[in-house]
Amino acid sequence: MTTDFTATRDAFVLPEGMIYLDGNSLGPLPKAAAARVAQTVTAEWGQMLITGWNKAGWMDQPARVGDRIARLIGAEPGTVVMGDTLSIKVYQALASALAMNPARRVILSDSGNFPSDMYMAEGLCRTLGADYELRVVEPEAVLDAIDETIAVTLITEIDYRTGRRHDMAAITSRAHQKGALTIWDLAHSAGALPVHLAKVGADFAVGCTYKYLNSGPGGPAFIYVAPRHAETARPALSGWLGHESPFAFDLAYRPGRGIERMRVGTPPVLQLAALEAALDVWDNVDLADLRAASLSLTDQFIAGVEAACPDLALATPRDHDRRGSQVSFRHPQGYAIMQAMIARGVIGDFRAPDILRFGFTPLFIGAADVAKAVDILAEVMANRLWDRPEYHARAKVT
Ligand SMILES: *Cc1c(COP(=O)(O)O)cnc(C)c1O
Repeated sequence: MTTDFTATRDAFVLPEGMIYLDGNSLGPLPKAAAARVAQTVTAEWGQMLITGWNKAGWMDQPARVGDRIARLIGAEPGTVVMGDTLSIKVYQALASALAMNPARRVILSDSGNFPSDMYMAEGLCRTLGADYELRVVEPEAVLDAIDETIAVTLITEIDYRTGRRHDMAAITSRAHQKGALTIWDLAHSAGALPVHLAKVGADFAVGCTYKYLNSGPGGPAFIYVAPRHAETARPALSGWLGHESPFAFDLAYRPGRGIERMRVGTPPVLQLAALEAALDVWDNVDLADLRAASLSLTDQFIAGVEAACPDLALATPRDHDRRGSQVSFRHPQGYAIMQAMIARGVIGDFRAPDILRFGFTPLFIGAADVAKAVDILAEVMANRLWDRPEYHARAKVT
């Protein structure tokens, strides 16, 4: 192991007394990001004003940052660009893929996918016409459901609720055998475990950066297009910054070169500054070390909770190959239990109907944190500490 996880932990602002097991939903603040955003605001926006687009390199930032994400997801240089939100990028990738496979009309996804991916696919089908269809199967049935009718698969590698992991290589290979394209949603993969987009031959990928990549609330998404498709993929959301020459102000749209065409409008410069600083932490991280540490933490948590809390049912696969970087347990009182945990400084979250979700992020979580979290959960369960009225009141964000 070459990664120094003590150093990475020191790179984050972590409130005293809090065990933060929700880096899979919103990563903590990297110390360098606070300073970088402040500098971008005062020295760039404040002093350069509009000249910052050239002088401070704001215009090239989406591709520059994209290249740094590329390393973390096994993508070739020049294949990733930043911007918008993940939902928008799902739409962008889907519309392009469908247009590239025009004889077919079916998008294949699974019932473990995140609702926004489904909603975007449904909306796109409605726009394209009644013969387009979103076909949803059980996660275990995805491989067999890929047949000659499928235009594109829209699969999230790691299930946001259970942490179940799909076999990206097998699904991509089968899709290609059957003439389908693949879109991989890496929302819970990028920064969570090694991803090998180029090696598996993925066609498109998308993901967000505010989860494991720590870009802060509302941080921009990324999109990947395989080099073999870069000059043929045609964006449906064809904004001016995806144009070949935005400052020619042509009235007719011509797609930009390669991945640049997947840009839409003005990039979120302040959020990109936060992300750029957040990515510095990753420069000294070996993803194989990260994965080994993550599996060790999730194993420890599963063993500890199962030994101490017989009423909680494990929802996450035990098999390492089938597990992401989170652990989920089911309980009918999951919401109240999580509120009781949060009140005691252990931050996870709840996903309806009954999932207690805990994310394990070795950059700033260690074995001692896991041991403490297990003890607190055991105490909450053994003494029914969750059964107080204030823990049952549902907030807007769970
Ligand atoms: C977190 C997540 C999203 C969120 O999309 P936004 O547009 O960034 O809000 C979408 N899809 C998946 C699979 C996610 O995990």
